[in-house]
Amino acid sequence: DAGASDDAAVQGTSNDAAVSRESAASLGYISDPYIRHFVKHPQRRAPLINRGTHSRFEGVQRILRQFISKANSDSERNNGQVVVLGAGVDTSYLLLRQQEFDVGMYFEIDFAEVTAKKAATIFRRTANLRSMLPEDTQIAAGGTEIHSSTYNLLAGDLREFESHVVPKLFARGLDCNKPTLFLSECVLIYLDSLQSDQILDWITRNISNAGILTYEQILPDDRFGRMMIENLRNRGLELRGLHAYPTLQSTSQRFLTRGWHRAAAIDLATYHEHFVQKSELARLAKIEFLDEWEEFILLAQHYAFTFAYTSDTYPFNSMDLKKI
Ligand code: SAM
Repeated sequence: DAGASDDAAVQGTSNDAAVSRESAASLGYISDPYIRHFVKHPQRRAPLINRGTHSRFEGVQRILRQFISKANSDSERNNGQVVVLGAGVDTSYLLLRQQEFDVGMYFEIDFAEVTAKKAATIFRRTANLRSMLPEDTQIAAGGTEIHSSTYNLLAGDLREFESHVVPKLFARGLDCNKPTLFLSECVLIYLDSLQSDQILDWITRNISNAGILTYEQILPDDRFGRMMIENLRNRGLELRGLHAYPTLQSTSQRFLTRGWHRAAAIDLATYHEHFVQKSELARLAKIEFLDEWEEFILLAQHYAFTFAYTSDTYPFNSMDLKKI
């Protein structure tokens, strides 16, 4: 049926993201020793893709680390919670543990088809990843989930957030009173905007101190945007949420009109130019020569970070996107 094959195509995007990340990691753009375990068929991506992966990775890791350091430096330790929506085979949790961050509660959600593969890889003996997880870690839900006192990989459909995903989060210890960071990289855009709005509204209704970072496509209507959409459509992928929030302004406005306290958005081109340090750019230039600058900028203008939070007391500081 069409619904199931659409779902399979969307689930397949976790592999695309992983292949790009593995490419950037193996060339030295980013430091991620774990991603290779999740990629069966590595491919070397073009220099402009690797450059984009670097900025995307750096932006997300920066917010994640700032949140965790800040939330956990407040009066109570282990105070922060992270919820990754559509986590795919994202390795951020392993990276945080490797760098000895005091992570607190960490939840990852994806379709069971994706979480089952992730769980199998983590438990594969040769990958040696199991030792990175808390001691009380167990495989659960017929191999589709990982449970522990702090890290939980959960199977669920984000289109049924309140009825299917939320009960699982609560069962594994989500605490509505803790400062919480939601992360969503190239995920909500695959949902109808009504469905993703339901997730955002659930957050504002239930979690008093919440923040969210999304990283998604924007600008569907120019030449490059139409090409981007067409390429995905040819692979059975539809960016359902894109036309509802097509610009930097509308993606941040979306949060403000839905009761979030502050929101700001920047595109990846701006991030690359103003947030990546000059010394880092010099390091990248030595890894691979990038002669398709115009193409890179065009591509990077079509991806945006949007950061929003619900309360003045949100534990967050300097990387305020565009001085939030
Ligand atoms: N965030 C990961 C990353 O950046 O590496 C994965 C990104 S991948 C492009 C999109 C992910 O969202 C896929 O793993 C897919 O299965 C997941 N996803 C999309 N729609 C979903 C839904 N309705 N419920 C659960 N997961 C979903």
